[in-house]
Amino acid sequence: MWAQEVVDEMISLAQAKTHSCAMIADALNAKFSTSYTRSAIAGKLHRLGVSTQKEEPKKKAVVAKPAPRPPRPLSSPVLQPVEDIALAPSPDALNVTMMQLEKRMCKWPTDTDLYCGRHTEFGQSYCNVHRKAGTMPARYSVRQLVGRIRR
Ligand SMILES: [Zn+2]
Repeated sequence: MWAQEVVDEMISLAQAKTHSCAMIADALNAKFSTSYTRSAIAGKLHRLGVSTQKEEPKKKAVVAKPAPRPPRPLSSPVLQPVEDIALAPSPDALNVTMMQLEKRMCKWPTDTDLYCGRHTEFGQSYCNVHRKAGTMPARYSVRQLVGRIRR
């Protein structure tokens, strides 16, 4: 079915890389009075392993841009619940109720309804331990806390 001269001509046209399969078909049909179709040419060339495609110049390897960094999360340090500090366990706390609280007794809450109750210095509301706890530097100002809540 494929005359060798036709095949040779087809291959030479294909290797010239200037003819599409349709153009090769037309050229062969004109020259050899055949009636090859574009797809017949394409199939034959494919079986012969001949390509009509111009080889694409190798593209420069695209240097991958480093992925943009994800935006930093707004710094949000973990807020310690106030209760953690207020209800800090105190080993020598007497844990008295409000009814039992008297003057010169520490009024620091140690539990939901209990207070430290230890002896306080004159004029002080809290024992030495809790006075220190009460004057610990605040981690956040009220303004910061309010800002966080509103955000
Ligand atoms: Zn106390």
